[in-house]
Amino acid sequence: MNKQYDVVVIGAGPGGYVAAIRCAQLGLKVACVDEWHNAKGESLLGGTCLNVGCIPSKALLESSHLYAAAQNEFKDHGIGIGKISIDVPAMVARKNKVVQELTQGISALFKANGVDFIHGHARLEQGKKVVVRERGKKKILARLEAENIILAAGSSSVHIDQAPLDQKYIVDSTGALEFDAVPKRLGIIGAGAIGLELGSVWSRLGSEVVLIEAMDEFLSIADQQISRTAFRSYKKQGLDIRINARLLSATVKNKEVHVTYEDNRGAQQVVFDKLIVAVGRKPNSDTMFGDEMELELDERAFIHVNKYCETSVPGIYAIGDLVRGPMLAHKASEEGIMVAERIAGQVSSLNYDHIPSVIYTQPEIAWVGKTEQACEAEAIPVNIGVFPMSASGRARAMGNNEGMVKIIAHKETDRVLGVHIFSAQASELISQAVTAMQMQASAEDIAMTIFAHPTLAESIHEAALAVDKRAIHIKS
Ligand code: FAD
Ligand code: NAD
Repeated sequence: MNKQYDVVVIGAGPGGYVAAIRCAQLGLKVACVDEWHNAKGESLLGGTCLNVGCIPSKALLESSHLYAAAQNEFKDHGIGIGKISIDVPAMVARKNKVVQELTQGISALFKANGVDFIHGHARLEQGKKVVVRERGKKKILARLEAENIILAAGSSSVHIDQAPLDQKYIVDSTGALEFDAVPKRLGIIGAGAIGLELGSVWSRLGSEVVLIEAMDEFLSIADQQISRTAFRSYKKQGLDIRINARLLSATVKNKEVHVTYEDNRGAQQVVFDKLIVAVGRKPNSDTMFGDEMELELDERAFIHVNKYCETSVPGIYAIGDLVRGPMLAHKASEEGIMVAERIAGQVSSLNYDHIPSVIYTQPEIAWVGKTEQACEAEAIPVNIGVFPMSASGRARAMGNNEGMVKIIAHKETDRVLGVHIFSAQASELISQAVTAMQMQASAEDIAMTIFAHPTLAESIHEAALAVDKRAIHIKS
C-alpha cells in the first residue's frame, strides 16, 4: 500500500528541507526522503550545504582566518602571543561539531513541523509514486504517493579524466575538508568559488597553493574591475593563480601528485603533495527516475523547469542545484518556498535578478545584479560610483582597508542595477544592496539614507553619492 501525502520532497538539502517545512506550515501533509548518511549509516539532513559545502567550508575559513590573524595581524595591535601552532585534527573536529549540531537542528525542525522524514534512496515512478530503498539494495523501505512531488536532489562534483580522484592525494572538495595535516604544496584545478575558498583555508595555514584555471579571464562571472582587484590581492596573499592553463594530466607517483598543464608558453610541470579538483558541479538527475517519466532535461542534464520550477510533467517540480540558475543554497531555499506556496494555492514568485553571490575569501567578494561588462554588452547607459575601502574610517580602524564598493545605476532612471563589493564582511554588506534593489531603489535613495558611523556600510552610502559625483570622503 502506498502511503498518501499532499507533497513528497526528494532531497533534504537547503532546497528540499526548506520546501518541506514551508509545505507543513501551510497545512500540507508532507514527507521528505533523503539518503545522506554518516559512516555508521545514520541519516544526516541538510544535503551538500550542511554536510560538505557552505557550513563546513565556512567553519574552516573562520579557523584559518583566526590563525592567520594571530600570526600576521595581532602584533600590529600590540598583542603578543608567542609562538602559535595549528592542530588540524582539532580544527576539523570543531568543523564536524558545527555540522552535526546544524543537521540535528533540521531533524528537530522536521519533528516540530510534522514533516515525515524517510531515510533512503528515492526513485520516482509514473503516477507520482515514490519508492524508497536502501541505496544500492533491492529491499523496499517505503512506497509513497502524492499529488505533488518536489525534486530537490542537488548536485555532485564534476570529475575529469585528466585528474582521477583517489580521495587520498587527488581529492574533490569533500576530501579537501578532511585533510589531517597542512599539505606543504597544494594544487587546485579550477579557480572558482571552491578553489578560492579552500585555497584560502590551506594557504592561511601554511600551504603553498597553486590554482590551475582553464579560462583566460579570472572570475569572469564577477564584475571585472572587482575580479582584477581581487586577483592582485590573492596573489599578494600567496595564492598563485595560473590562468589560461589547460590541464593535461595528474598522476600520483611516490606519494606526490605530478601535474602537467599547458599554457601560452607550452607544457608545464608541477608537483604537489595534494591536489583538489574543483571544476564545477553537475545535477543529480541520473539516478532518481527512468526515461518513462518523460521529464525533460537540458543539454547539461539539469531538469528543465519554467520560472515557477514546474517541470514538463504537471504536479512535479524541481528546485535548487538540480535546475538552471546559480548553484547556491539561498537560491535553492527560495525556490523551495516559492514551490510550496504555489502548491498551497498562493501567488508566489522569485526575482532571479536579485540573487546575491559571495566568495568567502579575505577580503570577501559579494555582488548582486548586473556587472559593468553586462551593462556594456546590453548597451545599457549607466553611471558608476566607486568608493575605496581605504577611505573608510571603520575599515582603517579594523586594519582591513583593502577593496571597494561599486554601484552601477541606470544613467536615465538612476535605478540601481548592480552592486559589487570587495571588502571585509562583504557577505554581510551585500544584503542591504539586495534589499535596496528589491525595493527598486535608485542610487539617490541610498544616498539619502542615514548610515551609522563608523561602519563599513558607510562605503555603500559613499558609493551611492559617488554615482552622482558627490562622495564626501574621496574626490569624485
Ligand atoms: P543539496 O544540498 O545537494 O541536497 C540534495 C540532497 O538530496 C542530498 O542530501 C542528497 O542526499 C539527496 N538526494 C539526492 N538524490 C536522492 C535520491 N534519489 N533519494 C534520496 N535523496 C537523494 N552555496 C552557497 O550559497 N553558499 C556557500 O557558501 C556555498 N559553499 C559551498 C561550498 C562547497 C565546498 C560546496 C560543494 C558547495 C557550496 N555551496 C554554497 C553550494 C550549495 O551547497 C548548494 O548550492 C546547495 O547545497 C544546493 O542545495 P540543494 O537542496 O539543491 O541540493
Ligand atoms: P565554479 O564553476 O565556481 O568554478 C570552477 C572553475 O573551474 C571555473 O573557473 C572553470 O573555468 C574551471 N575549470 C573547469 N574545468 C577546468 C579544467 N579542466 N582545468 C582547469 N580549470 C577548469 O565551480 P566550483 O568552484 O567547483 O563550485 C561549484 C558550485 O558550488 C558553484 O556553482 C558555486 O556556485 C557553488 N559554491 C558556492 C560557494 C559560495 O557561494 N561561496 C562556495 C563554493 C561553491
